[in-house]
Amino acid sequence: MKKTIRDFDLNNKKVIIRCDFNIPVSNNEIIDDNRIKSSLKTINYAVNSGAKVILMSHLGKIKDEKDKKHNSLKIVADYLKNIYGRKLFFSKYTKGKELETKIENLKNGEILLIENTRFEDVPDNMESNCNLKLAKYWASLADIFINDAFGTIHRKHASNYGISKYLDSGVGFLVEKELQELNSLNNPQAPYAIIMGGAKVSDKIKLIEHLLPKVDYLLIGGGMAYTFLKSMGEEIGISLCEDDQITYCKELLKKYKDKIVLPIDSKVSSSFANNKPKTVDKILPSQMALDIGPKTIKLFSKYIKQSKTIFWNGPLGMYEFSYYQDGCKKILKSIKNSKAISILGGGDIVACAKKFNYIKYITFASTGGGATLEYLSGNKLPGLENIKEK
Ligand code: AMP
Repeated sequence: MKKTIRDFDLNNKKVIIRCDFNIPVSNNEIIDDNRIKSSLKTINYAVNSGAKVILMSHLGKIKDEKDKKHNSLKIVADYLKNIYGRKLFFSKYTKGKELETKIENLKNGEILLIENTRFEDVPDNMESNCNLKLAKYWASLADIFINDAFGTIHRKHASNYGISKYLDSGVGFLVEKELQELNSLNNPQAPYAIIMGGAKVSDKIKLIEHLLPKVDYLLIGGGMAYTFLKSMGEEIGISLCEDDQITYCKELLKKYKDKIVLPIDSKVSSSFANNKPKTVDKILPSQMALDIGPKTIKLFSKYIKQSKTIFWNGPLGMYEFSYYQDGCKKILKSIKNSKAISILGGGDIVACAKKFNYIKYITFASTGGGATLEYLSGNKLPGLENIKEK
């Protein structure tokens, strides 16, 4: 068990809490505040314990100055201001004198949110490449480090792995809860089914390979299914495909033919748009599959009914388009009707379960997609590496 925030005397201490405020934003509005809400327990605990609280997080990807405009954490500062009022301050600088003065001026129970850590990625990727000089500087601003950003815990960045190298560190309540829930999947009740969807095969394929020996069924839908189908020689038209992964998919299918279940029909469109779909068993060269079809829903549901444990990462269709939501909706319904322990991992699938009102039937919704997959695959999580066991 890793040290947690409860293992520290926080009173009068400067405490950095690495949060996950990587929230979806559109037209300067927060679309889903789940990640902020999930951080409040740890922040409140630190405030009530008399800490001088320093919040850090990334938001989006920052490749150049232009990206900074749309990814400022000011929007989160405004949100938190509604909760903490005059106790909450914001620093638009990620280092330097002005930031340091703001920290020095903090009183016990006050909070300073620092601007997006990834602003340090321009020009030299100092945050994302875990520049230790930067990490050491950030660590010098505080006495204690608490990592509560589960969504990035599988990344070796300056603001998580880096800082925890130089400061006495622990995890926050969110990370503690995530780890407890995910641990239940280390000894899952069989049959154990994993449902995989989403768009990117290459991101997930190595993890799939680690997961396959542990599962009874792997149900693959979403954009990633079509690279697998193409590797079997099927026509997939203009559906999403990662050609450089085809050989690998073919090998996986050969090795695990009894475990991998692929779509047997699809809802297709002529382009990447919310056009009225056709349901087909065989995709034509001019068609693009944007959701699984009714036969596949029935097939997947059969496996779900037999399962005692279900883990799901990535949507089964382009659920952002109203015509292509059935796959996600109906499989969520099958989970609702099953007795299985169900865990959802990742922003998209959790958003989907919320959007279609199934979230209350899910045993646990994790805030991390990539992090969850890495953990379940048995890989080390860099964000935890420097945090001592207690
Ligand atoms: P990922 O980040 O890899 O989990 O991908 C999530 C995205 O995959 C979501 O925006 C989904 O709408 C999208 N997606 C799901 N199914 C498909 C599909 N058949 N074709 C294209 N995109 C899809």
